[in-house]
Amino acid sequence: MTGLVNLMEETVLEKIDQLWKQTDYCKCEKCRMDIAAFALNRLPPRYVQSLEGKLLHRFDASTTQMDVEITAMVFKGIQIVGDDPHKNTNEF
Ligand SMILES: [Zn+2]
Repeated sequence: MTGLVNLMEETVLEKIDQLWKQTDYCKCEKCRMDIAAFALNRLPPRYVQSLEGKLLHRFDASTTQMDVEITAMVFKGIQIVGDDPHKNTNEF
């Protein structure tokens, strides 16, 4: 099994689920993906080979600096998408 995975993707999705609970915004799958796209377009990707990725899970998201950045970006995405949900746009 070969291929690439972006560890940032997994980390961002987990972060959305964590932060979302504290808000009253729409929580459908479209909004979730819009928020993910917003954050992922603004955070550096972390590509690894998929096999390796399983072992390296959580990489440097565990460092405070990176975690602060990811949290801030995801939270911004939640607010932007949540305030104006279900737009037909790819401009995230
Ligand atoms: Zn929604």
